[in-house]
Amino acid sequence: MAATGLGESYSLQTMNKEDVNEQAMSTGNHYPKETAKKHHHSSRSSQSSDSSRSSRKSFRLDYRLEEDVTRSKRGKDGRFVNPWPTWKPLVMQNVLKWALMEKNNSNIPGSKEDLDKALPVVEPYFIENPSLAGKTKAGLRVTWLGHASVMVEMDDLVFLTDPVFSQRASPVSFMGPKRFREPPCTIDQLPKIDAVMISHTHYDHLDYRSVVSLNARFGSELRWFVPLGLLGWMQSCGCENVIELDWWDENCVPGHDEVTFVFTPSQHWCKRTAMDDNKVLWGSWCVLGPWNRFFFAGDTGYCGAFEQIGKRFGPFDLAAIPIGAYEPRWFMKYQHVNPEEAVRIHIDVQSKSSVAIHWGTFALANEYYLDPPFKLSEALERYGLKTEDFFVLKHGESRDLNINNEAFE
Ligand SMILES: [Zn+2]
Repeated sequence: MAATGLGESYSLQTMNKEDVNEQAMSTGNHYPKETAKKHHHSSRSSQSSDSSRSSRKSFRLDYRLEEDVTRSKRGKDGRFVNPWPTWKPLVMQNVLKWALMEKNNSNIPGSKEDLDKALPVVEPYFIENPSLAGKTKAGLRVTWLGHASVMVEMDDLVFLTDPVFSQRASPVSFMGPKRFREPPCTIDQLPKIDAVMISHTHYDHLDYRSVVSLNARFGSELRWFVPLGLLGWMQSCGCENVIELDWWDENCVPGHDEVTFVFTPSQHWCKRTAMDDNKVLWGSWCVLGPWNRFFFAGDTGYCGAFEQIGKRFGPFDLAAIPIGAYEPRWFMKYQHVNPEEAVRIHIDVQSKSSVAIHWGTFALANEYYLDPPFKLSEALERYGLKTEDFFVLKHGESRDLNINNEAFE
């Protein structure tokens, strides 16, 4: 099951910068396929795992305000902790109070007809026209695949965030949050995917069967960008081309040096099994290309991370920001933003356009299931923003941005 391999790989350390630069200089910018492929036998420690250190870049971005960012933090037991004053740890007493005492107002219709009307699932364009995928030139295209799963095409790359194609967000197939809207496509119907970014280990973001299926289809041609501490689990799924990163560390897809993937902070937590709380880091992702910049907020409460991210890497052409699973606030606010805070993230990271995620797919919290987009449009109005500044897509729907960008040779 998904849990195998967890718990064995938490003494992971990333290499220091000198090591990285040395490695990058000695290998140049060539990324032979064999480099990625031969590492399936490597040990669980990332010190010796070439999977995590192959294909490092040979340059660093000219960081602005390098000293002004918050680094990841561990407690005395080695587990990660949130460094934000806005965080409050979950205690069992509150989990029970939420589960037993709070009214669930989600009211998800039982009938498929009603759901099809309220939240239609449309066929993604690439099923009919697979040859169009990945050819956005200097533009950017985003497709919502449900919950926090989006497909982004930009700067000659196609990548996915938190791909979940299973029926339940749970370690077992017979219980746990069930999805009330189907995925708009199968993994086999996807175009060629170059990279996947994982934000954290919760089941509605990291799905064992989806990881295995993506690996079965794309193998080591697909690069996985994962949080610090997850490399061993990814290897136990059979993935060979995995890069695990600490906050503010960066890497790229082999052969695509010009596009930088940076793991950045969020305010959240990790858990898949009874005892593995916060052994893996959580976070958000920035993708910085020559034409476009994309930000994936992952799953998060509101905190000071986003202003730091905006200062260092903004403005972004597109941000994917969660708007759902926020009620009751006394319990949810530390881990999940509400639509108003989602708009503040949009502003903090300096996003030109944002797409709403983390709603309309799994029943995870107590707000009415159609409230997130309504509350989002109310919040946008309060901030003087337009609905197209922070838009909502149908399941499977795509939006093109920056189509007037000029391709430079
Ligand atoms: Zn989560």
